[in-house]
Amino acid sequence: MNPTRNEDGAGGHTTPGQPKKPNMFGLLIAGLIITFIFNLVAAKMAAGNKLQVEYGQFIQMIETGLVRQVQIDDQQIAFTLKEGLDQNTLREILRLPEDMEGPGERRLLNGQVYYTGLLEDPALTERLLKNSVAFSKPIIQPNPIRDFISGWIFPLLIFYGIYFFIMRKFSGLGGMGGMMNLGKSKAKFYGMEKNTGVSFNDVAGQDEAKESLVELVDFLHNPEKYRQIGARQPKGALLVGPPGTGKTLLAKAVAGEAKVPFFSLSGSEFVEMFVGVGASRVRDLFAEAAKHAPCIVFIDEIDAIGKSRDSQMGGNDEREQTLNQLLSEMDGFDSSRGILILAATNRPEILDKALLRPGRFDRRIIVEKPDLPGREAILAVHAGKIPLGAGVDLNEISRSTSGATGADLANMVNEAALRAVRMGRSEVLQEDLMEAVEIVVAGKEKKDRVLSPREKRMVAFHEVGHALVSALQKNAQPIRKITIVPRTMGSLGYTMQTPDEERYLMTRSELLAQICTLLAGRAAEELEFGEASTGASNDIERATKLARNMVTQYGMSEKFGMMGLESLSSQYLDGRSVFTASDASNAAVDVEISRIINQCHGQALELLRANREKLVSLAEYLCIRETINGVQFMEKLAS
Ligand code: ADP
Ligand code: MG
Ligand code: ZN
Repeated sequence: MNPTRNEDGAGGHTTPGQPKKPNMFGLLIAGLIITFIFNLVAAKMAAGNKLQVEYGQFIQMIETGLVRQVQIDDQQIAFTLKEGLDQNTLREILRLPEDMEGPGERRLLNGQVYYTGLLEDPALTERLLKNSVAFSKPIIQPNPIRDFISGWIFPLLIFYGIYFFIMRKFSGLGGMGGMMNLGKSKAKFYGMEKNTGVSFNDVAGQDEAKESLVELVDFLHNPEKYRQIGARQPKGALLVGPPGTGKTLLAKAVAGEAKVPFFSLSGSEFVEMFVGVGASRVRDLFAEAAKHAPCIVFIDEIDAIGKSRDSQMGGNDEREQTLNQLLSEMDGFDSSRGILILAATNRPEILDKALLRPGRFDRRIIVEKPDLPGREAILAVHAGKIPLGAGVDLNEISRSTSGATGADLANMVNEAALRAVRMGRSEVLQEDLMEAVEIVVAGKEKKDRVLSPREKRMVAFHEVGHALVSALQKNAQPIRKITIVPRTMGSLGYTMQTPDEERYLMTRSELLAQICTLLAGRAAEELEFGEASTGASNDIERATKLARNMVTQYGMSEKFGMMGLESLSSQYLDGRSVFTASDASNAAVDVEISRIINQCHGQALELLRANREKLVSLAEYLCIRETINGVQFMEKLAS
């Protein structure tokens, strides 16, 4: 089992029950066969009194004066013979046996049409004239019915067949049925569970996420309480986090705790080849959910439909329609009826802004990879289901699985149980668990990371570098949390800073302090390990962007002063900026940016060098704790 994006078994999806239909394809084949047979019979009848001869024989027959009449058309030469001709000559030419007698022979001579292939023979006409052979009226009557069938009906049938075949291929699982009742398919594309049987106790370690969800459960339980005050129930919540951290599990737990039905489907199931199908599925789903309210609708992998409409690759009509329908359904239903929409994604950054505005998915619940205590709790939940031997130390396991997700840990416990069975034991021992850690960790080495001790130390120094430089500068923002629990999207740890108050303006020195802080991660690595790692790429990107904005938009460089060099485009969407000045200025901007960056980097190095002991002690502390909050950090710094 690996936690890829599509494998979540979000509620056993019922297989679409196809209504019985006459098999169109079979009918078509039968039609084709009948036509073919008909054609064959017609051709046989037409060819009934035709006899093919070689071209040489034909010439011989002309030369010996046997031929009466010739018809030359595109493909063949047909001819008849004179009556009362010399039968021996004919027999010789046709190489017929001597003793041929009876009706067969008579047939040969009377009214028999012979034909032969058409050859490039310029001398033919001359020969015919010389032997006074008539080539006048047609001998073979055209067969209009057969020509019509083979010229028109047959090709049409073939095209018809190909058309159906292609449609069948493309409409996927739905088959012909899917195409026939396009959009109003009553086949179920979602799963519905009356009771998920999952409770919050089954989800370990996600305390923050659970806290925000408890309130939602209460909404579903007694909507009255909230209605009386006039509070609007939230319509939806978006669960955001890396794969395998328990998003689906949490959604099920909400339904289980609230004891309401759980509708689930994956975002990709909305989107079909035909424009309009997704939108009608959204309508169907909400109509069905309304019947079962209060209930939970869970849309897994919502990024499949919720992708930003502003993507550069050009639009996708079907997806946009589906998304629009979803938006209008979410606006349309009355949340006091108790429908709660939960959605999960591991790519929140690509979601359309319209989905995230209040009144739709107004809550965003972050589901992180678990930290040390979280991992231990998850292990405990899963290990609780299997018999454990004496001496099992789950804490030791969790310490060696930094970066593992809930799904990984569940998998490890399962692997351990399997190993115990293989060893013929009825209890799981510590060695089974340790072995399982290695299996799971090695198995996902490339895909996802579990840090080695040295890497972990490096990340710890990097993050403490950020935090320390931030704390040492007076214009920087306070630290909220430092963690070295690896997460998706490349970052191995992070330092979270939040300003004390909402800020709309930043001063030049604050911007510089921020750049310094961003570059301090790399600076700390350089100080402690004497070399740089790849871990700073995101910091560098952000620092460069800030420095660039200072130069091009905020008028904070000495060289350009208050000259505006960039302007924002589509400000309400992604806020890309467009360079508006000359190419020469562009090059000069780069020089200016690199000056700012270097200056800030130097400053960060200096600050860290002056506080070397603090850096080391804090980093060692973080290495053990994995996550420390702002208060702990400040205490440790002051001590
Ligand atoms: P996601 O939807 O985030 O990709 P899932 O909810 O499908 O992840 O989790 C997959 C499995 O991993 C769950 O069925 C559960 O066994 C295990 N799991 C994940 N997170 C936790 C957790 N916090 N506590 C207990 N089990 C978990
Ligand atoms: Mg999931
Ligand atoms: Zn960093």
